[in-house]
Amino acid sequence: MDLRGFDKFTLVDYPGKIGCIVFTGGCNLRCPFCHNPCLVFDPASQPKVTEKEFFGFLERRKGLLEGVVISGGEPMLQPDLVPFVERIRKSGFLAKVDSNGTFPDRVKTLLHTAGADSMGIDYKAPRAKYAELTGLDEPDLGERVAETIRLALEAGVELDIRTTVHKALLSEDDLAAMRDELSAIGVSRWTLQQFNPVEVIDDDLPQAETYSDRELVAAARRLGSDVRVRGLHGHIIL
Ligand code: SF4
Repeated sequence: MDLRGFDKFTLVDYPGKIGCIVFTGGCNLRCPFCHNPCLVFDPASQPKVTEKEFFGFLERRKGLLEGVVISGGEPMLQPDLVPFVERIRKSGFLAKVDSNGTFPDRVKTLLHTAGADSMGIDYKAPRAKYAELTGLDEPDLGERVAETIRLALEAGVELDIRTTVHKALLSEDDLAAMRDELSAIGVSRWTLQQFNPVEVIDDDLPQAETYSDRELVAAARRLGSDVRVRGLHGHIIL
């Protein structure tokens, strides 16, 4: 596993659990709002965490931490993700795997082998705008993400479906279209995430006007009772 970052304690990345989070290097997408550009463009610039270090840490945290979040980058790019997740779960920890959802076949393999206790899957745009908002010109991207979500629902995995929202990228009409698309797949609970104005791939975005927390909460209320809002620091504010 190409592990390129490690937070030893998190209360927000695995909802409801005390966890840690590891970040994998590399990603197939180029989302303009991505706040991990180093992991996407140049993972080797980030300090490498060896599996020996990581599992040594977990051994010492038995009974203290409940879960491990594997995030990125895009974890599905890692050829040895399955044995890595298997080892985490066999060590007595819950495993949450985050993904951009564009590799349904790999997600299927993971769910049918190592399994996962929870998945965080991004739903980044209405189907028709998926390529535009993720920087990868492949027309079936949105359909692949929808398929990944269907597979996770079928497997009964606890799901965190989330969307980072910036006014310059997603209008309220876009959000309404996404609500309809998610409902059609069978997703009720959906989380809108506040844009984080740090170093991102599109460096015009932090300066551009975006939704305030109040506007995002109002938009979420209009979208339905199962829509939540995650504020800047990862805490649920609706
Ligand atoms: S936000 Fe987009 S580009 Fe960044 S890691 Fe996630 S999927 Fe990749």
